[in-house]
Amino acid sequence: MTTLNETHDPALRSWVASAHAAGTDFPIQNLPFAVFRRRGSTEPLRGGVAIGDQIVDLAELAQARPFSGRAAEALAAGSQGTLNALMALGPAHWSALRLALSRALREGTHEQAVVQICLVPQAQVEYELPARIGDYTDFYTSIYHATNVGRLFRPDNPLMPNYKWVPIGYHGRASSVVISGTNFARPCGQIKAPDASAPVLGASKRLDIELELGVFLGQSSALGEAVTMLEAEDHVFGICLLNDWSARDIQAWEYQPLGPFLAKNFATTISPWVVTLEALAPYRTAFTRPAEDPQPLPYLDSERNRAAGAFDIQLSVGLQTPAMRAKDAKAEAVICQTSYRHAYWTLAQMVAHHSVNGCNLQSGDLLGTGTLSGPTLDQAGALLELTTGGKNALQLPGGETRTFLEDGDAVVLRGWCEKPGHARIGFGECRGQVLPARTL
Ligand code: CA
Repeated sequence: MTTLNETHDPALRSWVASAHAAGTDFPIQNLPFAVFRRRGSTEPLRGGVAIGDQIVDLAELAQARPFSGRAAEALAAGSQGTLNALMALGPAHWSALRLALSRALREGTHEQAVVQICLVPQAQVEYELPARIGDYTDFYTSIYHATNVGRLFRPDNPLMPNYKWVPIGYHGRASSVVISGTNFARPCGQIKAPDASAPVLGASKRLDIELELGVFLGQSSALGEAVTMLEAEDHVFGICLLNDWSARDIQAWEYQPLGPFLAKNFATTISPWVVTLEALAPYRTAFTRPAEDPQPLPYLDSERNRAAGAFDIQLSVGLQTPAMRAKDAKAEAVICQTSYRHAYWTLAQMVAHHSVNGCNLQSGDLLGTGTLSGPTLDQAGALLELTTGGKNALQLPGGETRTFLEDGDAVVLRGWCEKPGHARIGFGECRGQVLPARTL
């Protein structure tokens, strides 16, 4: 459990000037982790921490041995080519490293000279996946998404009877989780038109996005062990952005009876920066249930979860078509804005439920929250919902329309937290572009 401490002080100032740029995602109060190297180089991958428009190179910094105790151990672990070892150390180590870095990046510190030579401009790097992801599980924690999608298939009974009792999820595929900036070909698969007698193999015509958050797990749990609600967040290293690209036509034909398969596992894009739960502490909020809904079973309930188990993370989806790009490389249309606070199940509940049967969770495992649609249609995190199953095309600036994604379309997810009295912190971006399908 993380409470506010000196690292959250909104008055903190860094000697890295860009950490004070208006609207920066990476002030000194954030300090998220990524894995990177200089773009186009053969340098080893290593961990880094964002500050303004720079990265503190943890491998370079570790050579100078500036810290002691847990902070030094965490720094050594974070200098590796994946963050699994750092994730495995647990919250006391993560917190010690955050405090040491926060102090070393503040104005007036005697450590400035040591850290300054370890800075690498973000504009010069390429990122890799933050961890070696052993397993990826995708949840379904937005009741608005579950209801909107359910209504398309079952207008009279959109929400399944288990939804308000069980944090629903399925086991996804880790091998096709890719880092932001990776483009991918439109998937091919079996598709059956509603009026056709047989399916055909073809390129998906209903390629969609899913606006989600990704949750990187920290300390492992043992096979047979159930992680309790009180322990659950100690097993969470941090949060990134996640786009669960989905081929709706492949999904519609294959999903019964065992759920999503090839409609989902051709690509899942995550953002490079992982924001720790400690950084997000100022943006915790109460987890509430409508009075008429069933309250969570005891293994999914805790006083802490009720008081502060949810997070108010603002989220947006930007769509850039090839026509927009031709006019302006940065042009995009925002097609959705919402917040993680609307989720029906919390992070802690996902972890507690996933392990209640004794399933072991491992450092570097990735959980997806599921599409984080909010209560109103403009807060829907998938085109399937925004266009009511492809019936109502989105009107885009410049006169273009979209029901589902077309070749060349790029999608950018963004996330940030802000409120009066606290530093604004952000997640960077999660970007991917659709390339034409391979020739069959
Ligand atoms: Ca999903």
